[in-house]
Amino acid sequence: MGRPHDSKRQHSGPFVTLAKTEFSNSQNANIQKWSAYVRGSANRQEFLGRALDWVSKGDIGGYMSSHRNDNTINELKTYFNSVIDWVSTVFVDVLPEMKGLEWGRLYEEHHGKSYDPEKMSTDVNGLAADAYVTNRKGIFEYLLGGSVDTKLLVVRVFDDKVKRVAYAKQKQAVEAKGKSNCPHCAIGRNANKSRIYKFDEMDADHVSAWSKGGDSSSKNCQMLCITHNRAKGNR
Ligand SMILES: [Zn+2]
Repeated sequence: MGRPHDSKRQHSGPFVTLAKTEFSNSQNANIQKWSAYVRGSANRQEFLGRALDWVSKGDIGGYMSSHRNDNTINELKTYFNSVIDWVSTVFVDVLPEMKGLEWGRLYEEHHGKSYDPEKMSTDVNGLAADAYVTNRKGIFEYLLGGSVDTKLLVVRVFDDKVKRVAYAKQKQAVEAKGKSNCPHCAIGRNANKSRIYKFDEMDADHVSAWSKGGDSSSKNCQMLCITHNRAKGNR
């Protein structure tokens, strides 16, 4: 008896009714488009959940408390459509990896920039076909961020066998010359210029950076001492 609980009241009222009519109606013709980017089904309220998550920047409870008596869902609907329209304009190809990404956050972070959809398409397809890219879900954020943060792609690094071959080759080449097997140390002026590092004191480096087209084959592998490898940065 008496008033229903607050938590229950959040799930009823004109706002919720309108929101469900828009987002939880399996007859809505937009569902196919939304499904390219949002995981879930209309019946299980997953599009509505995502729409609320995006417009509220993650504070669904707070958003519901302040909007549950609204007689309109314009803000919710407009924001959701803005995100979807932005994604589908920037990325004209629909890849399965796009489904379920944090498009709301990516929209907030990047929608003020301008992108050339044609170039984005070329880049998306190039990266998706690159065997060294092990996290294809990261392609979109990587490109939106200006192709800088290669960590998003989890680029496959040199395997142990490739590193050992490069190590042996470098060591053999310098042994008689009294030079360091780290090519950067070898041209330096301090005591390390003749130091022979053990295998586990070195790390593999891409001679030609992966981001500039270099691959992770033995031809492109060079062992550097850990200090010099770190100095060169995570390419
Ligand atoms: Zn070195």
